[in-house]
Amino acid sequence: IGGTYVEDTSGAPIDVVYPATGEVIARVHSATPAVIDQALSAATAAQKDWAALTGTERGRVLRRAADIMRDRNRDLSILETYDTGKPLQETLVADATSGADALEYFGGLAGSLTGEHIPLAGGDFAYTIREPLGVCVGIGAWNYPTQIACWKGAPALACGNAMVFKPSETTPLSALKVAETLTEAGAPPGLYNVLQGLGDVGAALVTDPRVAKVSLTGSVPTGAKVYAAAAAGMKHVTMELGGKSPLIIFDDADLENAVSGAILANFYSSGQVCSNGTRVFVQSGIKDAFLARLTERLKGAVIGDPMDEATSYGPMVSESQMNIVLGYIEKGQAEGARLVTGGKRLDRDGFYIAPTVFADVTDDMTIAREEIFGPVLSVLDFETEDEVMARANATEFGLAAGVFTADLTRAHRVVAGFEAGTCYINTYNLAPVEAPFGGTKASGVGRENSKLAINHYSEMKMVYVSMNDVEAPY
Ligand code: NAD
Repeated sequence: IGGTYVEDTSGAPIDVVYPATGEVIARVHSATPAVIDQALSAATAAQKDWAALTGTERGRVLRRAADIMRDRNRDLSILETYDTGKPLQETLVADATSGADALEYFGGLAGSLTGEHIPLAGGDFAYTIREPLGVCVGIGAWNYPTQIACWKGAPALACGNAMVFKPSETTPLSALKVAETLTEAGAPPGLYNVLQGLGDVGAALVTDPRVAKVSLTGSVPTGAKVYAAAAAGMKHVTMELGGKSPLIIFDDADLENAVSGAILANFYSSGQVCSNGTRVFVQSGIKDAFLARLTERLKGAVIGDPMDEATSYGPMVSESQMNIVLGYIEKGQAEGARLVTGGKRLDRDGFYIAPTVFADVTDDMTIAREEIFGPVLSVLDFETEDEVMARANATEFGLAAGVFTADLTRAHRVVAGFEAGTCYINTYNLAPVEAPFGGTKASGVGRENSKLAINHYSEMKMVYVSMNDVEAPY
């Protein structure tokens, strides 16, 4: 807060547990009302001067922060692994690096954020001024703590806003490093503050009149609550929520690529990815070969100590998330899905669940309808394109969707028919900062990344300029 660490141990303690061992490795305290007030006051004060800088000056700070994050990638990755349990093999390439990409990209855009000139009748014209919103609140999920802190912070700061960011109580550490990095890069005190706490701290931020915008990454039920609270104060929102995305594999797909896509869509980060393609629709002609090859390839997962760079598959983030996933696995079996591989907790310390594949899954089963957020892949059979499209879209969610096929026209026809915000042809789960990311239907509102994110962190003031006498009726 205000560019420095604030200690207030009267807030409820939050233990940080290393998911690979179950050990408590750190303790933070939930922000008290006084601390929340301090952060919002610091952000409000910092925002005005920051917005008065040129975009180029603001961008320079963000790009410097990106360089610092890249220089410290290994240390930041180790911390991210402690926070989340994700293997270092992943965090070295997907977390601080992705955060740095966002800081660099939006830092680069900051100098060219402008309004436009609009010619009108009789020589009149209008112009627009792109203005920041003010103090923006970011609230994060636990699966990508560094990335989420940067994906929200970078566009917000580029546009001239200040941010108060609340990480998930499950992974409170990494966002602190993002704040430290920005401060070191020259961000003024108070521009980017981090508050710890559970949902009550998030809720206090969302209802505060000093806050102009709320960007949440979390589950659909939390999204509904936060969106409603923000609406009461007429605040801007971005909602990055959950999903149950379809991945369709046609008979003519390249088998090896389709299996790779299904692995990326279900087992990266032990399945704790919002855009995962967990309903894998496989056409009947390729089904047996697909299941055989998938099972074979999963034997190649190196399950073990996340700090060992050879490890490619780690634990679940927490004991409670592990138990939720084990509950879904039980339900899948009880409702008649065929367990092909995995399906159990591993006999070792930490919260490990074996990569799990179900076949013969039908649309009405719980595992095909609800977001599991764990390493559980469901294979559903299909025959025709029309049939699979109707089934793929028959969900409240609309975050992502993918198709594997060698038929170019079919690929484009299928993605045109998907009710989803983020679609893939012959690949899955890539999220480069240059391209918009987000969901439709219950999966969210707004987009992160790309130039589109700028519109979610700024608004346009219109100025009408008359070049003529003013005509009035009387
Ligand atoms: P969650 O909804 O339980 O919590 C998300 C955040 O909201 C946490 O920081 C939590 O403390 C806070 N929160 C809870 N109640 C609140 C309230 N009433 N007011 C304000 N804040 C509140 O989600 P989670 O379990 O941390 O994360 C998993 C979920 O996040 C999954 O559903 C996943 O799909 C989703 N997710 C989505 C994306 C995306 O970009 N679409 C990315 C990652 C995760």
